[in-house]
This record gives sequence, structure tokens and C-alpha cells, in this order.
Amino acid sequence: MAMGTILLANAAISTIQERKAEKVVETLNQFQPPLCKAIRTGQLVELNAAELVPGDIVCLEAGDRVPADIRLIHASNMRVNEATLTGESLPVDKSESALLEECALSERSNMLFMGTDVCGGKGRGVVVQTGMNTEMGHLMSLLKHQEKEVTPLQEKVSSISKKFMKGALIVGGLVFVMGTLRGIPIPQMITTSITLAASAIPEGLPVTITIALSAGIYRMAKKNALIRKLSSLETLGRTTVICTDKTGTLTKNEMTVKAISTADRRWTVTGNGYEPTGVLHEVGPEVAATALELEDTDRYEQHVANPDLNRLLQICLLCNNSELEQQEGQWTTKGDPTEGALLALAAKNGLWLKDMTHWHRGHEIPFDSKTAKMSVVCKDVQNEQECYLFSKGAVETILRHCSRYQKNGDLFPLYEDQKQFILQQSEQYSADALRVLAFAYRPFDESEGGDSIDDERELIYVGLAGMMDPPKPEVEQSIQEAFALGIKPVMITGDHPITAIAIGKQLGINSDAHSVVTGHELDRLSDEELIRMVDQVSIFARVTPEHKLRIVTALQQCGQIVAMTGDGVNDTPAIKQANVGIAMGRTGTEVTKETADMVLTQDDFGTIVEGVKEGRTIIGNIRKALGCLLTGNLAEILVTSVAVMVGLPIPLVPIQILLMNLLTDALPAMVLAVNGGEKTKQPKRTDFVDKALYQKVITRGVLLGLGSLGLFGASLAVGAPVPVAQSVAFATLVAGQLMQAFSWRQEGTEETVRDWTKDRFLLGALCVSWLALLGALYIPPLAGFFHTARLPMHYWIPILGVAGSVSLLAKPVLNLIAKKQAHNASPASGTYAAAV
Ligand code: ATP
Repeated sequence: MAMGTILLANAAISTIQERKAEKVVETLNQFQPPLCKAIRTGQLVELNAAELVPGDIVCLEAGDRVPADIRLIHASNMRVNEATLTGESLPVDKSESALLEECALSERSNMLFMGTDVCGGKGRGVVVQTGMNTEMGHLMSLLKHQEKEVTPLQEKVSSISKKFMKGALIVGGLVFVMGTLRGIPIPQMITTSITLAASAIPEGLPVTITIALSAGIYRMAKKNALIRKLSSLETLGRTTVICTDKTGTLTKNEMTVKAISTADRRWTVTGNGYEPTGVLHEVGPEVAATALELEDTDRYEQHVANPDLNRLLQICLLCNNSELEQQEGQWTTKGDPTEGALLALAAKNGLWLKDMTHWHRGHEIPFDSKTAKMSVVCKDVQNEQECYLFSKGAVETILRHCSRYQKNGDLFPLYEDQKQFILQQSEQYSADALRVLAFAYRPFDESEGGDSIDDERELIYVGLAGMMDPPKPEVEQSIQEAFALGIKPVMITGDHPITAIAIGKQLGINSDAHSVVTGHELDRLSDEELIRMVDQVSIFARVTPEHKLRIVTALQQCGQIVAMTGDGVNDTPAIKQANVGIAMGRTGTEVTKETADMVLTQDDFGTIVEGVKEGRTIIGNIRKALGCLLTGNLAEILVTSVAVMVGLPIPLVPIQILLMNLLTDALPAMVLAVNGGEKTKQPKRTDFVDKALYQKVITRGVLLGLGSLGLFGASLAVGAPVPVAQSVAFATLVAGQLMQAFSWRQEGTEETVRDWTKDRFLLGALCVSWLALLGALYIPPLAGFFHTARLPMHYWIPILGVAGSVSLLAKPVLNLIAKKQAHNASPASGTYAAAV
């Protein structure tokens, strides 16, 4: 009855703790409701998908997850991945055209279905079904339940538990046989050996791990990272390479145009952020520096007189999907920061979007990081019905499609040497860490269409704009921290290699010529060649999302554990492939966020480094909890089995063993598992259970076991009755275990006594355990329940002496082992010695 109560209490505590931990993770994962853009009362608003109702008009673009079942009313180059619904892995084209007959789901080209992903183009449509009434909803209702995730750490621990279980059963069997042979009554031997075997099994460990991971996930949420899977945090702890994009993660993603040039003139631009105030200073060898410092009203007229600059600013405004807005006196951009910077540039010259209402936008070829450009067809409905295709994008890409250039309003053929001159100009900007865009256009015949990249041809080059995106101030330190943790940061960017190198230098990322590889160079490398050199590269520039997948795979094949950031929908394959896929919470698309293992709510590189530290802390915590549990279990087994072997009475009553399991093992271990570990410098570990851990467990377990057995024997020798001697053994084991908790907690940390006295959980757990021990010994009904005897005060001197000296004695023993191993010159043991 008593034993049943204890076992039930143990199971109940484990279940409650595990459920609580799972709840934390579930709640955190609910923080990310999918968002969508809808038109309500004529305004474009951002809504939670759950707020949509049939009849709403929704606008979608590449990277959006479709929030409901939608009938398209307009689509431009729209491609949708419907694999989740139809199993078709290739994206399908969508258009608004009516279908003439009833067809299968996969052929309904004018419909978008909830849960599918827009992977290209743009579109608008009317919501026809929401929630469980959608096609995806029907499918979901057929899926009954999801399997519970088992993390690799949990798997590993269950396998250790199983090994211990086998060992415990063997020892239990041996104790039973020996005890029976010695004539101890069989029923007593049955309960003793079963309890002994049961107590040696660290059955609480999987729960401890869930609790440790959930506590870590909770702590990470406070540091602006949502971890979607328990296993991701432990993988982060083992990460060796962090692949990060540049814009927005390493840099502020606050663009300001600092320099512009046309065919024969150059300007520097003053002003900060998106503030539309600043001036152009003309520079260059041909023209002496003059300042175009004009009154707002004069500017427009002045630039009409400078047709190249005027055209460039016109493209800045018209080939643009963003808006400038003022919030609490601060100018910000709604939309792409790159485009926001171009609007601010135009505004500094007195040009605003509202001055361009006579230009009507036709087709758009949206920006895609793969093509690195964007084009729009615009028609001037006021003046002579002029129609143009305006393009902007990465310099090399735009130049590839240009056949002429504009100089002072006249057009000239664009030959190779002029292209080289423009590229050099762009590289000069890049060397100053500026992100460079080129601008081009051509007169357009409306009958040409304008929605296909084939239309981006025969363009007329106009000029360049170089914009500053300063590195985030705190990133440099995070990069140093990553290096200190033994992690290599790798920058993967769509930007120009020279810009990437300049930013890399500012941040302390290795950026010598050998460590930078471009997308073009990657294309020329075979997979084998890439694998051979990928470890030496610190910057990949002008890469497309496809390259990212190759880079991650190559790094993994070199044995690296890779964390990888991404924002666009095209990054999803690489994010999926990475050991830890990380999405940007602010700039990331819904699809990327849903695929990722971790979402950075503030798009902060430092949070990834924090995640690695957290992961390592957790692995370290679990190691400590395991060590603490196993030490106690080993001591318990030793005390009983050796006593039976040497002919002593049985030193522990079964109910006492169960009490130890419930309080003195489980409680401190759980507290060790949730420790935040602020002062912990956990090393990089591929395996958290190693020889070093077992050596510690064995040394401490044997010392504690033999110590309490020694006191048990000594008590009997001085004539103490068996229940008193049993209580001495019980008290020594419990006190020893509680003191062990401190030694395990201290392992690998720089904590002082003051630090752990601030840990109210640890102190609480220890208080409960001590009170339980004292209660079991000194409160008569409890003493009866636990079969203990009241211990006279002077017994506590040897008990506390033995309990307290275990860790002290273990140190020289472990040092001796380490020295011996170092002597045998095994490199692995050297590491162990350092760890000890
Ligand atoms: P990262 O991958 O680090 O975020 P990135 O933001 O520079 O780098 P992309 O957004 O793929 O990478 O941009 C690649 C290039 O495309 C830029 O260097 C720029 O020249 C050009 N570009 C960026 N945004 C636009 C845009 N809105 N319109 C046209 N071209 C753009």
C-alpha cells in the first residue's frame, strides 16, 4: 500500500511536469498566426487569416501562404506550390481565366487553396471558403492525430535507460539469488530485489529532458526566438556553422541612397534613413564639385533640365511597390526597404509618388532574388500616351539586358568597354559597403504584353544608385562570441561580393579573397569540388536560393551541423535541408516561417548565438541531471548488493528506496535540468554522455555507496539495532545525493556559492528533500511508514562527513584517472581531463 502510494505519486509528478512542459511549447507555437493582406473598406490591411470571411478580397505574392480558398480575379505570373494538397511537387501556373468545365482540384487554375504556397508572381482574389470548409480543412478533418515527436536526445536517453534497466535487472537477480542462498526469507528478497531494480532505472529521465527543453524554449521566447520543435534546441547546441544572410540579419535593413551616377555625372547624397531631406552634391573628374542645393519647388524644374537624373528618379518612383510614411514624426517605409530608399531619394529631389498619378501601371515582372531585378510597364495617360518598361536591379543583370545607354538625354550604343566602366563604377560603390542598383528602361509597345522576362530586353541604361545599409552595432560582438564558441559564421548573400566583403570586414567575418565565392563560381564547381573547399569559405555572394541548398548540403557532407537563415519562399528548400532552419520573423514570408525550426522575431543574428548557448546549456543540464541520477542509483545498488554479498543484513528497506527515488533523485535532477545556466560555458559536445561522465558517475557513486555501507556496517559493529543502522545508511545516501546536486550543478560553470543560493528552485527542491528526510526520521507516523528509527544527534557527524566528502574525494581520484589517460597520450582523454 505504502509502496503503491509512492509509485503513484512519482508517476503523477512526472506526468504533470511533462504536460506542463508540453503546454509551454504548444502555447509558444501559437504565437505565430498566419497573416495575410486583404482589402477592407478600400484600404489594404494586414489581417490574421482567421479573421477572413467569404467575400473578402485578398492580395497575394510570392512567399505568402494562401489563407483561405480563393477565386482569382487577377493574376500576374502567378505560380503556386500545391504539394501539400495535391502531392504535385512542381509549382502550377494560376490565372484568373474562367474554366469551361468541371475539373479535378489540381486542374482548377483560377483557384487558390488554403495552405498552399505562392512561389512566384502576384495575384488578387475573392475568398470563397475559410477554415474547416476549405479543401485543406476537409483533408485535415480526415487526419486523426499526429505522432508525438521524440527528440534524438530523448532517444539517446531512452537507450541509456534501457541499458541501465538491463543492468539493474541482472543486479536485482543476483541480489535475490545471493540473499536467498544466505537464508533471507524469499518474500523479503523478492521485494528488495524488485525495488532495487526499479530504483536503478532512471525512468524519470525522458520527462526531465522534455522539461529541460521546454524550459529552454521558454527562455528563448523571451530572447525573441520561437523554437517550433523540441529537438531544434538541442541541435542548435551542437551547431558548428551558422549560415546567415546579410541584409536584415547582419545589417539593419535600413537603406539610404548615398551615391548616384548617370553616364557622365556622379552625385553624393546627404541625409539619413528614410527622411526625405537631404541634398545632392555633384562630384567627378569631369565636373567640379557643385552642390545642387535647391529649394523644393525649384528642384523638379532643375532635374527636367538634367534628363538622365530625371529618368533615374522617375524609375525609382514608378518601378516601386513601397510607400514612405511618417509615424510619430519618424519617416519609415512600408514595403521593401531597398525601394523605400529610392522613394526617399526621389523625395529629396522634390519628387513624390503623388506627382506621378498620370502614370498608369500595367504589367509587372516582380522582383525575384533569383533574377535580381524587377520591371513594370507604365503608361503616361496625360502626355502623348508614352508607354515604357522600367527596370531596376543588380548591376550585372541589368547591363546584360541593355543595348544602349542614355547620356544627357541622347541614346548611344552600349559596348563592352562602357559596360566594364559602369561595372567598375559599381565596384567602387560596393567597396564602400554600398548596395548597388542599376536603372534602365525602354519604350514599350502595349501589344508586347510586359509580363514575361523576355520583355526585359534591348534596355537603355540610365544610371546607378548606391545605398548604405549599416551593420547592426551588436552583431560584431555576436560574431566574436560565435567564434569563441567554436562556431563559424558564414555570410550568404544575394548582394555583390565586394559589398559583402566590405560588410564582412566591418563585422569581423573572415573576408580575404580566398574565403569569398560567388554564385557564378559555385555554378562551375562540381559537388565534390564544393565539398572539398566549402569549409574554407566565409562569404558566398551573388547567390540564389538554389545555391543555398547546395552550400548547406556540402557543409553537412563535411560533417558540419548547419543552422541556416532565410526569408524568401525560395529559401525554404535550404531551410528544410539545414539541421536548424531559421526564418526571419519580420521580413520572412509566411511559408518560410512555417517551414523553419526557429523564427527570429527581431531578425537578430545574436539570437542565433544565444540559441546555440541555450542548446548547449540544455545538453549540459541534461548531462548533469543524468549524472546526478545515475550516481544516486549506482550508490543504492552498491549498498544493497555488496551488503548481501558480504553477509550483512539488508541495509535499505524497499519503501526507503522508493522515497529516495521520488525526492532525492528526481527533484534535484529536475531542478538541474531547468537551470538557465547564465554562467555556464558549455563546451561543444557531439555526444552528451561520454567516458568523462561515466567516470564521474562511477567514482562518486562508488564513494557514496561504499561510504554509506561503511557507516551501516560500523553502526552494526558498535551494537546499533538493524533499523538504526538502516536509517544511517538511508540518511547517508540521501544527504550524499543532495550534496551531489551542488557538485553536478557546479560542473563546467563559473558559479559561486552566491549564485546558487539565488536559485530558489534548487533551494526549494533541496529544502523539500531535507525536510522529507528529517520527517521520515523524526516524525513518528512517517517514521513508522518508512520503517526508520530516530537517529541520535551524534550520528549526524559521520553521516554528514561521509556525504560531504564524496565530491571532495572524487576530485583527486578523477584527476588521477585524467593524468593516467593523458599519460597514455590519448587526445580524447586530454579533452576529458580539461572538462573535468
Ligand atoms: P541577403 O540575401 O543577404 O538578404 P540581398 O538582400 O542583397 O542579400 P537580394 O534581396 O536577393 O539579396 O538582392 C540581390 C540584389 O538584387 C541586390 O544586390 C540588388 O542589386 C537587387 N535588388 C534588391 N532588391 C531589389 C528590388 N526591390 N528591386 C530590384 N532589384 C533589387
